[in-house]
Amino acid sequence: MALLSVVLPAYNEEMNIANTAETLRNLFEREEIDYELIFISDGSGDNTFAEICKAAKENPRVRGAEFSRNFGKEAGIFAGLELSSGDAVVVMDCDLQHPPEAIPEMWKLWQEGAEIVEGIKSKRGKESFFYKISAGLFYRIMSRLIKMDMSSSSDFKLLDRKVVQVLLNLPERNTFFRALTFWAGFETKTVEYEVQERKYGSSRWSFFSLMKYAVDNATSFSTLPLQLVTIMGMISIGFSVILAVQTLARYLMGNAVEGFTTVILLILIIGGFIMLSLGIIGHYIARIYEEVKGRPKYIISKVTDNVRGNVTGSWKKL
Ligand code: UDP
Ligand code: MG
Repeated sequence: MALLSVVLPAYNEEMNIANTAETLRNLFEREEIDYELIFISDGSGDNTFAEICKAAKENPRVRGAEFSRNFGKEAGIFAGLELSSGDAVVVMDCDLQHPPEAIPEMWKLWQEGAEIVEGIKSKRGKESFFYKISAGLFYRIMSRLIKMDMSSSSDFKLLDRKVVQVLLNLPERNTFFRALTFWAGFETKTVEYEVQERKYGSSRWSFFSLMKYAVDNATSFSTLPLQLVTIMGMISIGFSVILAVQTLARYLMGNAVEGFTTVILLILIIGGFIMLSLGIIGHYIARIYEEVKGRPKYIISKVTDNVRGNVTGSWKKL
């Protein structure tokens, strides 16, 4: 019988673990799906990992790990994929905002041959005005940059073992899970779902963390910002040709004293362009620097009793 793994990254979600584990257990027992649940506590400051251990004691199909510090959701997802052994793996939030009822449908599509099943948001859950604007902007920028429509995609997906292996074999440290499955290709089906409301706790994303996420992902997934530098250079050159002609003409006509405003404007515009360009290039250098160091994506500090392997440094399966 095929095994379904569910990967659930959790950051300070002590209130959600038990409830989520129970809900999924009931669902899979009802649907007669062979399953395992993998909770990754992302360096939580509360009792999330203790809750995971408790859930693992109650149900041997629950396994989990704790990171040595907060490494971010991407790292959590990848650690979960690494620990999973299912023939298909579902990644979902552990706050149940991704409705578990959609999983059997994904599972069915997988059995019919789909290699990736994308969860597509049909309606966004209740979100604050500020969140809506920043998330909207984020998706608009991202869709542009990576040339895929990201507005309704999410991290709620089912992946075939083949796809999981492809993702785990990627050498890079900066990953963007949501877009990587598009990049990987494979036979893809979609399932629509409605984003649920969060029962306990609050969203972990602030405006600034979302913006940082956008910039990090944009620079790790696209080189378009670099081309922007070229465009800005061209604009400056265009300006300078026009002004050079004008200045020369005035000089030859003998009235070249004026032009203070032009000088100030030019200094400001060109200074701005140069600094922006340096910033963009700097971002890419930072990415390269991080990749070159080759540090692991995450460090596991603790695992539940039913997980075996080397837990010092990044995870290596025995
Ligand atoms: N999460 C994580 N590490 C982080 C931030 C979030 O593992 O640094 C997890 C979090 O526990 C949740 C999921 O990622 O399971 C989505 O986070 P959240 O619900 O805060 O985001 P939202 O649903 O508002 O997009
Ligand atoms: Mg959430």
